Amino acid sequence: MRAETLRRAAVAFALTLPGAAVATLVAAPAAHADGCYTWTRDLYEGRSGEDVRQLQIRVAGWAGRRDIVETDGNYGPKTAAAVRRFQSAYGLPADGIAGPQTYTKLYALQDDDCTPAHFSYSEMDDGCGRGGWSGGPLSSAETRDNALRAMWKLEALRRDLGDEPLRVTSGFRSEVCNRQVRGASNSQHLYGNAADLAAPSGSSLCDMALNARDHGFSGIYGPGYPDHEDHVHVDSRRENNDDGIPNTTSWSAPDCGIGAGND
Ligand SMILES: [Zn+2]
Repeated sequence: MRAETLRRAAVAFALTLPGAAVATLVAAPAAHADGCYTWTRDLYEGRSGEDVRQLQIRVAGWAGRRDIVETDGNYGPKTAAAVRRFQSAYGLPADGIAGPQTYTKLYALQDDDCTPAHFSYSEMDDGCGRGGWSGGPLSSAETRDNALRAMWKLEALRRDLGDEPLRVTSGFRSEVCNRQVRGASNSQHLYGNAADLAAPSGSSLCDMALNARDHGFSGIYGPGYPDHEDHVHVDSRRENNDDGIPNTTSWSAPDCGIGAGND
């Protein structure tokens, strides 16, 4: 049952009760005071707002093959599908509606600084040592926000690989750092938008690259692509409107069977 329906029913019922009972019944539900963010209403298709956007950041890693979830604050079919995949992945009823059970899982997954449980700002800000998110083309705050969104996608990838610990070997890079490591001049690493991942212990680089296709990564480069024999690069280039390149998907890991456009 949707939240407003419940609320209306509760109020109607409360009108028939004596004062003390009414006070108890209509009191706000015990809010879960999460250190990062607390949702206060159910969300489903048609709803919009900052709470939807916060949800989208956290489920964007469940976008589905070759798709992305825009963090636009509008709960459309793609957000609903991502919520369903998130729910399935964590053993919840997959109804595509974000309610108490979904929020409980999200609260369990998010740290007080809003990063997902298994990734941290510090490991994403380590292209050439900690740069404090500065020295790139965006403001520090924008860069950090991009890194946060990348981490939620990584959390989904990690889950899909059977809770396989993933190690980020290069995240945000300042311009200086990017030149040092001879990164591409328009590298997504400059935007805090990319992560290089080392081979996981329990699966292969190709497993990781193949699975990344289902987790909102529009840029994937791995084995068979030049200079990507020892890591998989994932990024969110389709969502980057600051890099001067078209918002299209670009995947290449020929040794894993990932080519251009046919997968
Ligand atoms: Zn990279």
